[in-house]
Amino acid sequence: MASPLFIGLDVGGTAMKAGVADDAGRPLGSVSLPTEAFRGQEFGLERMCETIRQAAAAASVRMDQIAAIGVATPGTMDIPAGVILDPPNLKPWQNVPVRDHVHKVFGLPTAFQNDANAAAYGEFWAGAGKTAHSLVMFTLGTGVGGGIIIGDLVIEGEHSHGAELGHVRIELTNPRQCGCGRWGCLEAYASATAVVKRAREALAQPGARSTLSLALTRTGGMSARDVFEAAAQGDGLADKIVEDTAFYLAVAATNMLHTIDPDIVVFGGGMIAAGEGFLNRIRGHVRRLAFPVPAARAKICYAQLGSDAGFIGAAGCARQLWRGKAAFDGGASNITTF
Ligand SMILES: [Zn+2]
Repeated sequence: MASPLFIGLDVGGTAMKAGVADDAGRPLGSVSLPTEAFRGQEFGLERMCETIRQAAAAASVRMDQIAAIGVATPGTMDIPAGVILDPPNLKPWQNVPVRDHVHKVFGLPTAFQNDANAAAYGEFWAGAGKTAHSLVMFTLGTGVGGGIIIGDLVIEGEHSHGAELGHVRIELTNPRQCGCGRWGCLEAYASATAVVKRAREALAQPGARSTLSLALTRTGGMSARDVFEAAAQGDGLADKIVEDTAFYLAVAATNMLHTIDPDIVVFGGGMIAAGEGFLNRIRGHVRRLAFPVPAARAKICYAQLGSDAGFIGAAGCARQLWRGKAAFDGGASNITTF
């Protein structure tokens, strides 16, 4: 019997990416289409189905060769109900029954998961955590996403708000306000957006000297990458921003070590371009902050799947659903009902 194939779809604010993965999480082909959330949710649901169809075509497989589909989206959401509720990144969508729609269109078992949880599951199944029993992942981008996997179980929480690691509180004294409206969240300090904001504030201080101010007047803009590059060139101001960012991430990682005691903590997202030096800074702070045993034994690594983690993880969630059904049905593999 041929190895089962799964399609994962990762819906983001800007683009949706779908791909086919085999039973070991190897991607066989993928596509990306613009989300265009502003066109409304009816359009969005059709765009999801079109991305799924194109993913099958990109992998040169027919839909009837697919065992199950997994869909990952940003929150807020009700995971057991398969519904996106009121997603800040997909306005103006509201109460979108994603899972049932995709299931109805393709007639295949369809799993639904939070996008950051799916990315963590992708790394657990087929990436940096492939040999781990438990994994905590931070995805560093515009915001900070989080995911926790323990023994193949995605910790989605009782109310679909589990593993919101971007919003664990790391600063209580004069805390910064987070995009979520609360104060002192990790995301307000360690997202790429927050790194730029902190660098701009430091530059605005009287007497601040940094190559970043030159870059800023030359190009009119600054990215987290500029800050990391300036630090690597020996710029003191940029180096302080990078060092503080490593510290904030280490505080959050330490809280996770003391909660979960996982095999591995994985950092993903665009900021991992900062390289091994940044990771070593995080490791150094964790060694000072955490209990000695988990600090010495938990691995702290970068993610390996890049922007494919979301769709691979969504495909992995599809595989979990399919395997559960296969076991329930006594091993039958030709399941076509939800
Ligand atoms: Zn927050």
